Amino acid sequence: MQRLADGARQLGIPLSPSILRAFQTYRDELLAWNQRFNLTAVREAEQVEIRLFLDSLTCLLALREIEKEQKGKAALSPNAPLRAIDVGSGAGFPGVPLRLVWPSLRLTLLEATGKKAHFLEHIVAQLGLSGVTVVNGRAEEVGHDPVHREAYDLVLARAVAELPELLEYTLPFARRGGWVLAPKGSAAPAEALASEVALSRLGGRLHRLIPVEVPGLAETRYIVAVEKVAATPREYPRRPGVPHKHPLR
Ligand code: SAM
Repeated sequence: MQRLADGARQLGIPLSPSILRAFQTYRDELLAWNQRFNLTAVREAEQVEIRLFLDSLTCLLALREIEKEQKGKAALSPNAPLRAIDVGSGAGFPGVPLRLVWPSLRLTLLEATGKKAHFLEHIVAQLGLSGVTVVNGRAEEVGHDPVHREAYDLVLARAVAELPELLEYTLPFARRGGWVLAPKGSAAPAEALASEVALSRLGGRLHRLIPVEVPGLAETRYIVAVEKVAATPREYPRRPGVPHKHPLR
């Protein structure tokens, strides 16, 4: 776990021995399950630490920057007991690594595929994580459930869809004044430019693209930060599959 330990320290997120042990269990379980089910394309231990764990932890840097810029008004402090949802969580990214370093986070992991949701249940139990709920469903449906709609301070989504489509999956979950954070690669600026219509229809305002460096990764990475500034109209999200086929543009 040296890669993770060193990388996290570089990011200013030092990990205690017990947290490192939890990450090690997570990594080993993920790789073992991945031999039976296709959970992630990342198959090497070191790459799990870099591409999945460290990349997920960069969301915390974005939160710190937003907090600083907003002088505490954003109320997103990693010490606060915030409610977060990870939409299209897959094998738990970025939600589970964030929860490991942020014990007071109340986290919902939303995942459409049954076998991935099953892995999420397993790993949450294995790691003994309190305050974490797994929901097996689609954002287009769960986004209309009053239990979840506009109920979250923070909505996370990584590697799920291009931004115009992704905003329709995520913004309905954010309370007014809440935030959507989406880790993305070099296509982020172009996707942000293509998202004007989606943002204004769904009640979002692009705050900015926060560049982040993932130790061990040469690729350009950003956290796209969107603030929820108005209620999302009831017709959104549209029926399953529609945001993908006809993204708001
Ligand atoms: N976020 C994880 C990560 O970064 O490793 C998983 C990324 S994977 C490429 C995309 C995941 O999003 C898949 O597990 C897929 O089942 C899920 N997904 C896609 N569309 C979804 C939707 N509309 N609602 C819920 N989950 C969705």
